[in-house]
Amino acid sequence: MDNAAATATHTYGHHQKGHIMTAQTSGLHHVTAIAGEPQRNIDFYITGLGLRLVKKTVNFDDPGTYHLYYGDDAGNPGSLLTFFPWRGIRSGRHGSGQSTATAFSVPQGSLGWWADHFGAIGVESAITTGLPGEERLSLRDPDGLQIDLVASSITDPRNPWDSASVPAEFAVRGQHSSVLTVADPSGTLEVLTADLGMHAVGEAAGRIRVAAGDGAPGNIVDVIADPRGPSGLTAGGTVHHIAFRVPDIETQELWRQELAARGYAVTAILDRQYFTSIYFREPGGVLFEIATDTPGFDIDEPLLELGRSLKLPPWLEPSREAIENAVAPITIPAGNNPALVEE
Ligand code: ZN
Repeated sequence: MDNAAATATHTYGHHQKGHIMTAQTSGLHHVTAIAGEPQRNIDFYITGLGLRLVKKTVNFDDPGTYHLYYGDDAGNPGSLLTFFPWRGIRSGRHGSGQSTATAFSVPQGSLGWWADHFGAIGVESAITTGLPGEERLSLRDPDGLQIDLVASSITDPRNPWDSASVPAEFAVRGQHSSVLTVADPSGTLEVLTADLGMHAVGEAAGRIRVAAGDGAPGNIVDVIADPRGPSGLTAGGTVHHIAFRVPDIETQELWRQELAARGYAVTAILDRQYFTSIYFREPGGVLFEIATDTPGFDIDEPLLELGRSLKLPPWLEPSREAIENAVAPITIPAGNNPALVEE
């Protein structure tokens, strides 16, 4: 098949509804979850998982609460896990209609080191079943959120953050995948393939895997059907939403119009300062976001200083004093900004 024919088949093959969807995400952008005590969250993700805090800001919809962003050195799309830490929040329930696991990509052969590392900080972990060609270590963060580390036979070329607590040879390369648990997978798979331009790549261990682009780590969603399990309750230790990548706001607006035309209750474009976002709930119940790759996390502080001070969007700056008094004092480990320590 020549390239033109391959393109035509690819473009029309998914779309039995009769129109061409322009949306084709390149992969995962971020996952946002709910935590309790912010300092405990910071200590686990910086010192335990070896991620970098790339932004300390507040929940723009609830500015008395932090919004903490963790990722690689620059907070690149596909590396990001973010939290709303609400002190004293009750625990949620993992179940259908949720993303029930967030997986990070680590090098092959590193899981033994990780199991020892977590053991040393009092975190239990266990080898669990993944798809062929990958090893998986599963654990829970201090609020009960499930985190998996996946060592895949597909080489992950992304550079790790040079963390103070995790040697680079073992360190997290970025997101690997998100696991969605739904009562009926048909509508979820339809959204992922027909509306977001992903494709099914395999089925094993009770999961149907879909991928964007070349299916490299960071571009993967695993769907688990659980028709009889409990439905999820979004609160502490659960994922609030998962976000997929779109290059820019112009493309995002086209996708928004297409999703609306297909009957989804999709939001207006919202300014999240480091990207812009639209949200809609997929038929399985999981809240999806589509987020832009631009402008990125160095829009309001230099890369060396990411995460160092409380950053607010322009419309919240007039309330800075009240916000600073409302949020809990937190300490960021010095290794988060090593160049500043050496000064
Ligand atoms: Zn988000």
